[in-house]
Amino acid sequence: MNENQCLGKVHLVGAGPGDPGLFTIKGKTLLECADVVVYDALVSPQILAMINPNAEQIHAGKRRGFHTMDQQEITQLLIEKAHEHAIVVRLKGGDPFVFGRGGEEMQDLLAAGVSVEVVPGVTAGIAAPAYAGIPLTHRDYSSSVTFVTGHEAAGKYRPEVNWQAIAHGSETIVVYMGVHNLPHIVSELTAAGLSPETPVALVRWGTRPEQEELIGTLGAIAQQVEATGFTSPAIVVIGHVVNLHQTLSQCRPVVFG
Ligand code: SAH
Repeated sequence: MNENQCLGKVHLVGAGPGDPGLFTIKGKTLLECADVVVYDALVSPQILAMINPNAEQIHAGKRRGFHTMDQQEITQLLIEKAHEHAIVVRLKGGDPFVFGRGGEEMQDLLAAGVSVEVVPGVTAGIAAPAYAGIPLTHRDYSSSVTFVTGHEAAGKYRPEVNWQAIAHGSETIVVYMGVHNLPHIVSELTAAGLSPETPVALVRWGTRPEQEELIGTLGAIAQQVEATGFTSPAIVVIGHVVNLHQTLSQCRPVVFG
């Protein structure tokens, strides 16, 4: 075997949004036999508890208790671990390929000659609205949905989101990382022609026992967030499907664990 040929494989696993009942069987099986698990901040404690007790566990968000690892350090760590161990799990919140930098990590690992495969997870943008009784499509209200990042910091994702196009192109808009930037998002969408009466829901800690919702309208939501001190991590849902919340949230899903 030549020096660059690695023994191990990195499994890029989606942990889902929180409720351990939403974690995939494939993901759980990998955690149970992992040699090393490198995990992110938003992975729920019940899922971390599934990790093989003999595995090395590394919190990529909090190395040595104070330092947040940057993307390059994480990739380097995964490359090192893949050369030392057979089963390396890179555990990420939600789905690794939805605003989780999973694509970038996979590119870098493959470029370094490391075998890597993905295990999808239930993404927060689908699960959090569902647990709040908001279907993203409905034959009477919406036949299209867009997932978009509200965090437009240059260089993080592509520099600008085309809110004008999104306002016109999609009946349901699901925003990740949108709480901080909500006033800007609201003004872009209303400038594009969406009515200030358009229903909006924020779902915080979706699918966890502490899930909370804030329901309002495009015109009022930013002020409601300010007044209530509502914070991230939350998913923002914009569109008429939000009105279904009142009826469909009567029977709440039971969170596992
Ligand atoms: N890869 C993840 C998203 C990572 S981006 C996924 O597929 O779900 C981080 C953002 O996801 C947060 O800012 C928040 O907008 C959203 N998020 C993640 N977990 C959440 C949860 N349990 N409830 C509500 N929003 C959540």
